[in-house]
Amino acid sequence: MRLYFYCSSCQEENSFKTKAKDRFDLQKERGNFINERCRNCGTVVKRRINRVHAKPNKWLLIIGGLGGTFIALMLIFFLPLFITVFIIPAVFGIPFIAWRAEDKKASAFNKVMVSDG
Ligand SMILES: [Zn+2]
Repeated sequence: MRLYFYCSSCQEENSFKTKAKDRFDLQKERGNFINERCRNCGTVVKRRINRVHAKPNKWLLIIGGLGGTFIALMLIFFLPLFITVFIIPAVFGIPFIAWRAEDKKASAFNKVMVSDG
């Protein structure tokens, strides 16, 4: 999962990758604070675990949507219309379902706070 935080000096949003599924995992992995260098201004940012948040990966929806449009166009050209109208919802449904799963994972992460003293 990718996690996001704001730089304390330039307010730029930064992100980092982690295997942690929730803040408890992240706390085990990093301690009470994350220390990351801001990719915009180079400041080393120290953030409490509770200030780090997760977001669903929007690329899943963008790439899924573009891929779905491409596949739908191909189907319209090569298959009879009455078959295509049944397949198209599935073509767009799959990336949407995948995105919903990401969204759930992200909000599950954001909901749970840890006590960090
Ligand atoms: Zn910065």
